[in-house]
Amino acid sequence: MVTGKSTPFWNIQWLGHRAFRYIFPNLYQLVEDPNSSVYNIGCWVGNGWEWQIENCFSVLNQEACNELSDLKAVLDRVAPSGQNRDVLIWPLQDSHCYSVRSYYTKLVQDSVVELGDSRVRAALQVIWKVKVPSKMQIFGWRLMHDRLPTKSQLSKRGIIMENADSPCVFGCGQVEEVDYVFISCCCGRVVWSKMFLWLGLDYMEEVNCCDHFIQMVTVLKSFCVNNRADEIWLAVCWCLWRHHDKIIFNNRVADPDEIVHNVMMYSWWWLAIGNMKKVYCNFYEWSKNPLKFL
Ligand SMILES: [Zn+2]
Repeated sequence: MVTGKSTPFWNIQWLGHRAFRYIFPNLYQLVEDPNSSVYNIGCWVGNGWEWQIENCFSVLNQEACNELSDLKAVLDRVAPSGQNRDVLIWPLQDSHCYSVRSYYTKLVQDSVVELGDSRVRAALQVIWKVKVPSKMQIFGWRLMHDRLPTKSQLSKRGIIMENADSPCVFGCGQVEEVDYVFISCCCGRVVWSKMFLWLGLDYMEEVNCCDHFIQMVTVLKSFCVNNRADEIWLAVCWCLWRHHDKIIFNNRVADPDEIVHNVMMYSWWWLAIGNMKKVYCNFYEWSKNPLKFL
């Protein structure tokens, strides 16, 4: 705020930690023009600025009088100045420039945002750094937070009738919950066992997505030279989910071999695109010896 001509006096936070309408609610209820600018709440007398806050009211009650004296004490410390136009600044950064990080930190400090389970946070920290398209990272976030439209989620929200529609679309007859459909379902288990065989790993028995992801990434990292292990896990879940949709919308049937082939294709494509100069291989080389390039 410089001249105050385009800064609303009551309705935006221009002084202190909140807008005046929230700090002085009794005054705000009685003010005649709630849209006044800062410049219109006083005037220049010679070289000095005089606040004329009393002129904003035709009547005041006791609570408003108490707030008025507090407001005057606050206003005594400031005055409009200069000829430049008013500008917005972001108070949460020293540079006064907006950043998502500073706002997110503030929301966490104010307990507006729940950080959630520490293992999910650890998994997401890895997922946000994986070199895959951003829609894949968002898919990973939704998966870890159980925000994908599984039948379990759809029935919780009343979109489908639970008894009629909740069994897993891959045909195993179990309730389609996120950890089940990606890890333990009959189709998922076949896909994972083929993937582990391809990668030369022992089968893992984790029962939830988060632990499964962390364990697989940890094991793979000890084999990998290029730090690209994380995308394989995401690729498997992504291809499982796409196949899940094909069964629902295109009347397809569960086909673990097709899913495995798609995982190889997607992960090879990301590897080639994301690291073209450093690691390049053709699909045949990739499908025969993935650990050499991960
Ligand atoms: Zn199933």
